[in-house]
Amino acid sequence: MRLFKVAVGNKVITNLQNRLCVFSPINNKVFGVIPKIESSKELNLIFQNAKKHFYEFQKTSFQYRKKILLNFVELLKQKKEDLVSILIWEIAKNKKLALEEIERTINYIEDTIDEYKNIIKSNNRVIDESIHHIKGKQGNFSLQPLGVVLAITPFNYPLNLLIAKIVPALISGNVVVFKPSTQGACIAAYISTLLYKAGFSNGEISCVIGKGSEIGDTLIENHNIDMISFTGSTKVGIHIAKKQPLIPMVLELGGKDAAIVLEDVNIKKVVKEIIKGSFTYNGQRCTSIKRVFVDNKIKKEFLDEMNFQLKFLTIGSAAKGNYDITELIDKEAVIHNLKLLEDAFYHGAKSAQKVKIVGNNILKPIVLFNVSDNAKIIKEEQFGPVLPIMFFDTIEEAIKMTNSSKFGLQASIFTKKIDLAFEIANRLEVVTVNINKSSSRSPDIFPFGGIKHSGKGLQGIRESILSMNRIKGIIENS
Ligand code: NAP
Repeated sequence: MRLFKVAVGNKVITNLQNRLCVFSPINNKVFGVIPKIESSKELNLIFQNAKKHFYEFQKTSFQYRKKILLNFVELLKQKKEDLVSILIWEIAKNKKLALEEIERTINYIEDTIDEYKNIIKSNNRVIDESIHHIKGKQGNFSLQPLGVVLAITPFNYPLNLLIAKIVPALISGNVVVFKPSTQGACIAAYISTLLYKAGFSNGEISCVIGKGSEIGDTLIENHNIDMISFTGSTKVGIHIAKKQPLIPMVLELGGKDAAIVLEDVNIKKVVKEIIKGSFTYNGQRCTSIKRVFVDNKIKKEFLDEMNFQLKFLTIGSAAKGNYDITELIDKEAVIHNLKLLEDAFYHGAKSAQKVKIVGNNILKPIVLFNVSDNAKIIKEEQFGPVLPIMFFDTIEEAIKMTNSSKFGLQASIFTKKIDLAFEIANRLEVVTVNINKSSSRSPDIFPFGGIKHSGKGLQGIRESILSMNRIKGIIENS
């Protein structure tokens, strides 16, 4: 068991009188213990202090903020090993994926600093009478930070998604109160102390530890919040949006990304790509491929190849090696997937694989076919290593099936006919379509987001910065 400190405003808290215990999915034992926030009084004070400090922090220069962020990058590099080990034990991410998450986060910070410079240049404008033809009126427009940003993050990318909110906020001169998921709270607390050590030690950041079910409502109702950036499930996202209808908000929610496979593909290659897109980190990614639609003409070859290649996925504990399939985040996640499987089989689904739990919280990957439209797996996010495959006769049918989901994050199309792929892509009700690749959030410089039940607003380096700033106009009249 490991004790974590947490940075809240201008203090690092070690007092464990009120504490959150985080259990490891690897052995179901307590992995980390962190000081938590319990009373609404404490929470109010955190927001009040954050707001107070914002008025000072917004006056600091870009160079000052950049310097501290680069100090933070150095600390991330120094602590890489420790960060990897926390990710392994707290969320059962294998070492390779954990390292990738850290590298990507470091790049994200560096790219955000560069992009902020460009954004400021292109958004600070003077519009005078040579442009608008009204005499004696000069508009001076500039970007200004919003104030206190509340960032709430999910368990699956507890480092990258946290930084993708904190850094655009800080580089712009906002202050941040962040609440990580319970599973992911250890890494967030650790990160808070690194940010503090790097120089954000005067009240720029506050990490609030506590369960969403216990402190969530008090947290999101606070009147000192100026912007909310939330990533997590659709259910919680809608709840937050209802509670704070007027506050600027970016919501990145659930997904049910489809892959459409046309008859002209190299089946071997496409199956390999779909397995990667669907089963990486056990399917616990918002952009995991969660439904596959294949042309009926290649049904047999596609299924045979899928069942063949599935055997090569390695299965084992995240603590023991770089296995493809590791522990799901908790027992509830296993049960959720088992229930979806039971329901799918009840509705007539078939599979060449047996449902099997290995060790602790590890569910063997399963591909389903003959899946009925009434099965829950068609509609709900599985967030696990279970993949339904359906078949179509016409492209119209494939488009209809893809758009029948309430989610609208990303989709993939596999074909050699690029013009046709563009035609289909333009008709899919999602924000991003990937041609001949699985869905993915990277590179982070791309705008990223969802429509329908997958979210509101965009992330991506540029879009996140813009979402945390507003245009201020000062008009001189002479
Ligand atoms: P979740 O259960 O919705 O939790 C997300 C965050 O909300 C956690 O910090 C959680 O805290 C907090 N929370 C829970 N109830 C709350 C409340 N009443 N008020 C305020 N905050 C509350 O999601 P998850 O299981 O961690 O993550 C998986 C989900 O995130 C999936 O649906 C996935 O698709 C989605 N996701 C989306 C994206 C995207 O970019 N679109 C990226 C990654 C993940 P506790 O953990 O303490 O409950």
